[in-house]
Amino acid sequence: MRYISTRGQAPVLSFEEAMLTGLARDGGLYMPESWPHMSAGEIADLAGAPYEEVAYRVMRPFIGEAFTDTEFRGAIARAYAGFRSTARVPLVQYEAGKFLLELHHGPTLAFKDVAMQLIGQLFDLALTRAGKRVTIVGATSGDTGSAAIEAFRGLSSVDVFILYPHGRVSEVQRRQMTTPVESNVHAIAVEGDFDDCQARVKDMFNDFAFRDTVGLAAVNSINWARVLAQTVYFFTSAVALGAPHRAVSFAVPTGNFGDIFAGYAAKRMGLPVERLIVATNLNDILHRTLETGEYRMEGVHPSISPSMDIQISSNFERLLFDLYDREGAAVALAMDELRARGGFTLPQGALNRLRAEFDSARASEEETSATIAAMFASNGQVICPHTAVGVHAADEVHGTRRIPVVTLATAHAAKFPDAVEAACGQRPALPPHMADLYERPERVQVVANDLETIETLIKDTRT
Ligand SMILES: *Cc1c(COP(=O)(O)O)cnc(C)c1O
Repeated sequence: MRYISTRGQAPVLSFEEAMLTGLARDGGLYMPESWPHMSAGEIADLAGAPYEEVAYRVMRPFIGEAFTDTEFRGAIARAYAGFRSTARVPLVQYEAGKFLLELHHGPTLAFKDVAMQLIGQLFDLALTRAGKRVTIVGATSGDTGSAAIEAFRGLSSVDVFILYPHGRVSEVQRRQMTTPVESNVHAIAVEGDFDDCQARVKDMFNDFAFRDTVGLAAVNSINWARVLAQTVYFFTSAVALGAPHRAVSFAVPTGNFGDIFAGYAAKRMGLPVERLIVATNLNDILHRTLETGEYRMEGVHPSISPSMDIQISSNFERLLFDLYDREGAAVALAMDELRARGGFTLPQGALNRLRAEFDSARASEEETSATIAAMFASNGQVICPHTAVGVHAADEVHGTRRIPVVTLATAHAAKFPDAVEAACGQRPALPPHMADLYERPERVQVVANDLETIETLIKDTRT
């Protein structure tokens, strides 16, 4: 399998190269050259298999020659050994036809661990074999950062620098990033919002001199390997509910469009996915795009589901690439317009195709809190605010259709204790492995939202 850029002007890469590179040199994102197909028989055969086995079979066609079967199976086994559920991602019914897919049993209590734990293993295999060292830089609205730090702490082949918006992540999220003691992981608090952090990461990738000096690599949601690892749980959950014989819909709390794009990829591979429901909070660029056909930036509004407080959804570019018949030049033009004029309009054909697969719903802060309260009242489940945005969307869009709908439970409620307690009166406790989080000393650098300052800091502190 080879990987091509959404903007059509970057070198074609192997899986290993695309994984280690992250962002393409023409500013685009890497996409598989074609979608591998799984037959109905192959999908049916996944029923009852352990998560690791499904992961192996779903991802194998994308990996090419990058790893031997033994290496790849070993990496998968190590990645998920630390999850606190043997199912890895248990599926829980909460109402007739409605399910939660619990993706938060990894070390940092959010779904980002599912991909990041595997990426840590794959990076380490590839870099150690090549005798190389890289500097991983990532922007986070809260959960990617801790997941990356947790996946790479102590590995000798990498330094990790995570940029997060100063004062705009929850205390648990911040402490997960600032308390690890290993010297190869570094938290940077940027005076700005998440989009500023993401823009500085993109700037660093476009500064080729800096990029080559430090051996820059990315693991945030623009990294293809991350999207790929997330396709797996769409398969495990759909198969548990009767795929390939029965279709399933998914409601996905969405920020950067990574998780829901993984659902789209699973569908392209042959999984019978009926609807993909984009669930947004107040930061609703994707919901507005589906309604109006115009992708237009607005300011970022802080919310009680902070991991979705974004203005631009980076991975939407991957979908655009397919909606624009894989014409890199057309995608590049749209992205130029976004940068220059703050938005662009989808051509009618692309919009029709978007609407043919995706629905959307937006949850206000009140609706999010009300959903947390209703879930607790009806069956005693305490859910996080992001998950609540998804449950709200499943109710609003999906209603009482007979096809089952799975909402991705993207984080553990204990990551957002204040919002959860305010909504339902229950203060969720941290699991035992994190019980002393509030006592651990913190280590963080606060910096201005300025490229040169951040680049200098990275050059000077890498080990
Ligand atoms: C990152 C995150 C999201 C959004 O996921 P995307 O892949 O960026 O769309 C939703 N919920 C939680 C808890 C997250 O950490």
